[in-house]
Amino acid sequence: MSSILIKNAMIVTQNSNREIKLGDIYIDDGLISEIAPSIHSEAEYVLDTKGQVVIPGLINTHNHISMTLMRSLADDVHLNEFLEKTFAVDSRRTRKDVFAGSMLGVLELIKSGTTSFVDMYYWEDETAKAVTEGGIRGFLGWAVLDEDKSTQKGAPIKNAENFIREFRKKERIYPLPAVQGVYAASEETFLGAREVAEKYNTIAHLHLSETRMEVYEHEKKTGKRPAEWLDKIGFFYDHVLAAHSTWLTINEVRILARNGVSVAHCPTSNMKLATGGYAPLPEMFREGVNVSLATDGCASNNNMDMLEEMKICSLMHKAHRWDATVLDAQTTLDLATINGARALHMEDKIGSIEEEKRADIAVLNGRSERMLPLSKATAVSNIVYSAHGGDVLSTIVNGKLLMKNRQVLTMNEKAVLDMADERSRELLK
Ligand SMILES: [Zn+2]
Repeated sequence: MSSILIKNAMIVTQNSNREIKLGDIYIDDGLISEIAPSIHSEAEYVLDTKGQVVIPGLINTHNHISMTLMRSLADDVHLNEFLEKTFAVDSRRTRKDVFAGSMLGVLELIKSGTTSFVDMYYWEDETAKAVTEGGIRGFLGWAVLDEDKSTQKGAPIKNAENFIREFRKKERIYPLPAVQGVYAASEETFLGAREVAEKYNTIAHLHLSETRMEVYEHEKKTGKRPAEWLDKIGFFYDHVLAAHSTWLTINEVRILARNGVSVAHCPTSNMKLATGGYAPLPEMFREGVNVSLATDGCASNNNMDMLEEMKICSLMHKAHRWDATVLDAQTTLDLATINGARALHMEDKIGSIEEEKRADIAVLNGRSERMLPLSKATAVSNIVYSAHGGDVLSTIVNGKLLMKNRQVLTMNEKAVLDMADERSRELLK
């Protein structure tokens, strides 16, 4: 395992005091072994980050990464037409397409400073290959839904369990079950997924209350809103990570808080598909729900830039509440870092830059026209409101340098782009 010395850094630590430190970071055997004003130890790689900003690697808690191949395929249409268009392509997809899309996605994540992501799809073993090659952390959710609603070969829950069993010991891969949503999964399916998650001690992921239609239909069918129903059947517990959670009542927010359920908030996706709701973040904070940030898949975003997502997140809530103080820069950065780690039950390992944690780090160019003036006082605002993914110079995961000065070291960028280009042409023909 290689050692890295980061010199002359402005470190946005995201530790419990949200300190910004000036100094050096020593990374050894995957871990942050020392943070000090000046370190003189020898290292295999030395990164001089004078004028740059060092932040914890960003954590994107909801994605369908292989859908990069469907980027810009179904824009400016209502959700039902969006689903029709994406399902039509989806039914033609092969394993090769899922791999090519995942490779393109992993490349984009590395280049925009994301070091961990949560995924939901089938053939996650193909996505796992891309994660292994790229070197990031993948929390890979095998899509679980009722067998009669699935296009998967075999029972989805069994497929999910087989995938988890095969991949759970692999480095940087965290396989898990991911339930499509109440519109595609019965009580039995939900409880089956929970049982698998508990058996292998994984996160249980799901789409929750994304649209009014979903809530309305479910209430008509069961007499309960989705979160109330999931509480009643006993699906919720502290390892559940609920994407969207847009259309929630205050009672449902309290249900999430009481069960320790985390939320993966997807502001761009919700606005782009005009789902009409604004996930009630201020109420979630007040009631003690852990909220993290996500881009959702590329068909509904259309990128996976978490720096851009932070700005959109903050502005969306300010505009909606007529209140410039909500989702301030520090709170928004928390969503994309330490809260993401908490949602994954990894807050003792990732999400902040502290000694003894895993070295998952992104280095941003602080000497760009967008980032000046840069000081301890402006750093967090600059990150949230000014920076975008292209400002990320270097990305480190588990102590390994994946990108240095915008050159990706673990993947052949040209080959990944060529493969994605070729597969998407074939797929969309
Ligand atoms: Zn989704």
